[in-house]
Amino acid sequence: RQEQYRSLRDLPAATLDGESISLNLNAGLLVDLPHVAETNADGVGLFRTELQFMIAERMPSTSEQETLYRQVLDQLSGAPVTFRTLDIGGDKVLPYMQVVDEENPALGWRAIRIGLDRPGLLRAQIRALLRACGGRAFKIMFPMVATVEEFVRARAIVTRELVYLRKLGHVEPSSISVGVMVEVPSLVFQIDELVRVADFLSVGSNDLMQFLFAADRDNRQVADRFDPLSAPMLRALKTIHDSASAAGKPVTLCGEIGGRPLEAMALIGLGYRSFSMSPASVGPVKAMLLSLDSAAIAAEIDRLLTMAGDRGTLRQQLAGFAAAR
Ligand code: PEP
Ligand code: MG
Repeated sequence: RQEQYRSLRDLPAATLDGESISLNLNAGLLVDLPHVAETNADGVGLFRTELQFMIAERMPSTSEQETLYRQVLDQLSGAPVTFRTLDIGGDKVLPYMQVVDEENPALGWRAIRIGLDRPGLLRAQIRALLRACGGRAFKIMFPMVATVEEFVRARAIVTRELVYLRKLGHVEPSSISVGVMVEVPSLVFQIDELVRVADFLSVGSNDLMQFLFAADRDNRQVADRFDPLSAPMLRALKTIHDSASAAGKPVTLCGEIGGRPLEAMALIGLGYRSFSMSPASVGPVKAMLLSLDSAAIAAEIDRLLTMAGDRGTLRQQLAGFAAAR
């Protein structure tokens, strides 16, 4: 199998009917980066910056953060990378940060919520990212945004830091792209407003699933009852994709489902053309898309969603479609 995937490495990632699919990797540490060349991925679609914070014994300084980001960019030698600002809190506790006692940490003080309440932390991180990206593309996204207003406030910090950077005479990034992770269901219902102010969207389907079905993503007892290949999730994903593309904004998906062939097939049917996944998923997803007719799966998913009725999951029908090709 691994041999078979290796033989696909140099083939362009395109469907039978010629739709190019961008395959990127999720990463969080320098050791993850060699996989980009190994798998021939297009770049890093999600760099989880909290990893550096989680393995450190104390809060990494702004210059330590800048050093890491610079190393990431250097090692990728021009391949695009999307940095996600700190996604801490919830299950990701920093040993040196004061623990907040919360009944529901996943629904609590985490990610961008901490970033906006403790702007010093977010500002320092954005400063480090802007500096590291001097002369290169700056592409970041914010996690766990629940309202358009939160995104606008977070984005304003970037603008402010950019002014500061100029004032100090640092080299500016060659381009600025500020996006948002769509992983809280409330965003689905303000998606048209969101796509107006964000440069791109990245669907965090792990959390989106968890919150859409109110089922802890790490608790098998409940998580396995719900299927991403069911009408509610697929319709949410379709709404997100369609709004982004109507507004001409890029949309990608960086949750685990993008790395599973059957799920990725359905996502291509919904119009998704860009994914970010773990290195081991690139081969299987590529093998799937090389033999996929994107127009045929688009028609099939449309048909299945129209007649979904009270059926829980469309997995069997989609597997049937995949097998019949
Ligand atoms: C997600 O929620 O789908 C995601 C990609 O982010 P994380 O898994 O880090 O929460
Ligand atoms: Mg998430």
